Amino acid sequence: MALGDAWQVTQMNYHEKEQLMEIRVTDMPALWRQEKCPHCGCQTVRGYDHAPERRWRHLNVCQIQAEIVCALPRGECLGCAKVYTVRAPWEGRSRGLTQEFEAFALTLMREMPVKKAGEILGETDQKLWRMLFAHVDAAWKDLSWENVVWVGADEMNRKKGHNYLTVFVDLQAKRVLLAVEGKDASVWERFTEELGKHNGHPQAITQIAIDMSPAYKKGVREHFGNATVVFDKFHVVSQVVQAVDEVRRLEARTDSQARSELTRTSWLWRKNPETWTAKEGDRWTQLKDKPLVTGLAYAMRLQLQRAYDAPTAAQARARFEAWCHWVRTEAAALAVGWLEPMRKAADMVERHLDGILAHWQQGLTTAFMEGLNSLFSAVKRRARGYRSSEYQTAMLYFVAGKLEIPYYAK
Ligand SMILES: [Zn+2]
Repeated sequence: MALGDAWQVTQMNYHEKEQLMEIRVTDMPALWRQEKCPHCGCQTVRGYDHAPERRWRHLNVCQIQAEIVCALPRGECLGCAKVYTVRAPWEGRSRGLTQEFEAFALTLMREMPVKKAGEILGETDQKLWRMLFAHVDAAWKDLSWENVVWVGADEMNRKKGHNYLTVFVDLQAKRVLLAVEGKDASVWERFTEELGKHNGHPQAITQIAIDMSPAYKKGVREHFGNATVVFDKFHVVSQVVQAVDEVRRLEARTDSQARSELTRTSWLWRKNPETWTAKEGDRWTQLKDKPLVTGLAYAMRLQLQRAYDAPTAAQARARFEAWCHWVRTEAAALAVGWLEPMRKAADMVERHLDGILAHWQQGLTTAFMEGLNSLFSAVKRRARGYRSSEYQTAMLYFVAGKLEIPYYAK
């Protein structure tokens, strides 16, 4: 800690009983040559008196907890006649913590759950959270989004009992911009507002990657008329994966033979063959020659994924169209309606084909969007014990917002 000539360490006291190192600091006359009145900016400030002694948790000294102790001086401004307490240059964004201590605590918090960091530091996790909020809020408010042109949005916390969050990301800079509670069209209005506050502009956004939810489509249409909408591979495929799952449930519900065969196979159909466990692979070998409609639906899903290997958008269009045709033909040929979810998926693909093909034209990288879900799981682990979206959002900005933290600039 560099104190300059305005402050001086006068004493180091070790208190054996409390295992505490006290670092006593006092102000020097040079302080008043540098001091500026916080009220009027005037540089003629003179020493007035001292405020009661205060303490700041500092970095440990040789593994002993250390505190800075100082009675901060009060200055009297000769310009506006106001008396104020001088700010300690070592003070962090939290009252009672030094900047060095905060920096170290934040380093720990990047690596582990806040609770755990609190145990290591001997501070309550509430105190650490308050510090994190202070840094994240300040750094986030000063962010510039003026270069943001490719935006992605996705909904997090799909599970029941959680608040939905819509997360907006900058796909070029690969950073999280904003998380807003909700998943309806109004979240786009919020994004537009924040864009304005951060020097961005809706007209500058040229590409937006979203899932096919009507609410998002409406929000984009209303607020981002200039943008090309891209329905990314991740969302298209996951909708079809969901359709396969519905087929499985329909088939198992209606047919007792199929029910016994399909028992405990839901994960098998959700994965790609490359990611099957040995057990799932064996299961597949047993099932593959059975006339299961679920197996057919699964084959359809794999075929759809292969359409993404097409080198050009025109070739991809032909593959998607052929896929839709195939799915509809099979669905119509089946006397029972089990393939109905797949037929609906084909309709969805057809309706959104231009946006799906934008994947080839725009060169948008959707890897960051795909990774967002696992990133968010990591965020929830760090915020363990704190489920409200306020905590999750702060942690999300902290780990994925590319913020400058610790942040003391303003
Ligand atoms: Zn003044």
